[in-house]
Amino acid sequence: MAAQKPNYKTVSATNYRGRFAPSPTGPLHFGSLVAAVGSYLRARSLGGRWLVRIEDIDPPREQAGAATSQLETLKRFGMIADEPAIYQSRSATLHQTALTYLLESLQAFECGCSRRDLPTSGIYPGTCRQGIPDGRKARSIRLRVEDRVIRFDDAIQGPCRQNPAHQSGDFVIRRADGLVAYQLAVVVDDAASGITEVVRGADLIDSTARQILVYHALGIPNPGYAHLPIIVDENGRKLSKSQSDDPVEVRKPATTLRLALRALGHEPPAGCRSLETMWKWAIAHFDIQHVPCGQTAIGVHPEPR
Ligand code: GLU
Repeated sequence: MAAQKPNYKTVSATNYRGRFAPSPTGPLHFGSLVAAVGSYLRARSLGGRWLVRIEDIDPPREQAGAATSQLETLKRFGMIADEPAIYQSRSATLHQTALTYLLESLQAFECGCSRRDLPTSGIYPGTCRQGIPDGRKARSIRLRVEDRVIRFDDAIQGPCRQNPAHQSGDFVIRRADGLVAYQLAVVVDDAASGITEVVRGADLIDSTARQILVYHALGIPNPGYAHLPIIVDENGRKLSKSQSDDPVEVRKPATTLRLALRALGHEPPAGCRSLETMWKWAIAHFDIQHVPCGQTAIGVHPEPR
C-alpha cells in the first residue's frame, strides 16, 4: 500500500500569513523583539495575518513561565496575533503522521548511530542508510539527503544557495531522546498554519535548505523566506534567551520599539512618541528593501527604563 501523504491547509499566495515562533527558553531579548517586530510589520504592511507559535517541543531547554511572559511582552509592545497562540507541543499527532509518512515512503530511515559514532565534521557519513548495522538498535530518524544545491530567494538576503549534503548530510528529524527535531516540527507546523512567508533571524538561515527538503519530501510547496539581521552585543555574541540577556519586558515599550525599528532600517519621525503613532507610521512605511541585509547588527543599547 502506498504511504499516505499528510494533508495541510492550502492558502493562496496573495493571502499572506506570517508568524513569530519563539522557543520558551527565557524572556524575549532585544534580538527576539526585532524578529517579532519584523515579522509583524511584514504581515501588517501586506494586509496579511500574523500568528504566534510557542515552540515548546524541547522541555529540557525550556524555562517555566517563559511562554506566558513572552506573550505578555508581545502584548505590552502592542503586537496582538490574529489567531490564538499555537503551542507546538499540541501538534504531536501531526508530527507523528509526517514521520510515519517519511519512513514509509523511504525518504527517511532509522539510524542507530550515537554521537560518538559520528565524525567531528558533523556531516553524517550514511552509516545506516541501507539498514542499521548488526549490534546496534534504532535511535533516531534521519531524512535522506541527496548531493544537490538548493536555491531560494530570500526577501532580505537575496539569492541563496545551500547544499545540505555538505552542511549536515542525512539529518535528524526525530532525536534519540524521542523528541521531534526542530527541522521537522517547524515545517509541519508552518504548513499546518498555512504560513506563506517565514520572517526570522538570520541565525536560522543555514537551516533553510534542510527545511525546504522536508517540504519537498512531504510534497508541499515551501513558503518564502526573509532573514532579518540578528542582534549581537559589542563582542559579536548573539543575545540568548536562556541566559536572560537584555530582557525587553522591563524596557519602556515606545523607546524600545523605536530602537527595534531603527535596527530594521526604519526611523519614525520624532513626532511619533506613543506606541500607537509609531505602529501607525511603521505599518504605513514598512519596506522590506530597507531592512539591512547584513546578517548581524550590533545591539543598540536600549535606553534606560
Ligand atoms: N523557535 C526558534 C527560536 O526561538 C525560531 C524558529 C523559527 O523561526 O523558525 O529561535
